[in-house]
Order: sequence, then structure tokens, then C-alpha cells
Amino acid sequence: MTPLDRLLNWHSDWRVSSSTVECRHCGALQHEDAKSELFEHDPTCKLYQARINPWRELHEITTAFGRSDPVIRESSARPASS
Ligand SMILES: [Zn+2]
Repeated sequence: MTPLDRLLNWHSDWRVSSSTVECRHCGALQHEDAKSELFEHDPTCKLYQARINPWRELHEITTAFGRSDPVIRESSARPASS
């Protein structure tokens, strides 16, 4: 799995804003200040036990991008079509 695949996979389960990450499945939120703690999903969430550290996952993915390929920089530098 490439870093881009991992990033897309991450975004399929999480939504991130300036300082919080939200589970797309149960809507639980975690502030960046609490990123060293386990993410608390709703007990009915399908990610309840599977994905409990979204900030660390995101950090690992962005670190992988920094090491391997520039695709994220190219895509973010592309001008918006109008
Ligand atoms: Zn959840």
C-alpha cells in the first residue's frame, strides 16, 4: 500500500479539521491536545476497537510521504480549476 492509498484509507474513516479529528462512522471527536490518548468511539462503532489512534496514524502516513514521493505536494500545489 502506497502512502497515498493509506491517506485515502485514513480519510475514508476520519474527518480532520484544524484541531480535531472526527470518526466518520460514529461522529466521535478528539482534540489534538488529547492525541496521546486512545480515541473513544461510540461502543456501536465499527471502528470501536480497530482504530484508536487516528493522530498517530496520520502522522505515520505524512511521515511516509516525506520519505518516499512528492505526490501530496504536487496535488496540493495544483491550482483549483475555475
Ligand atoms: Zn467511530
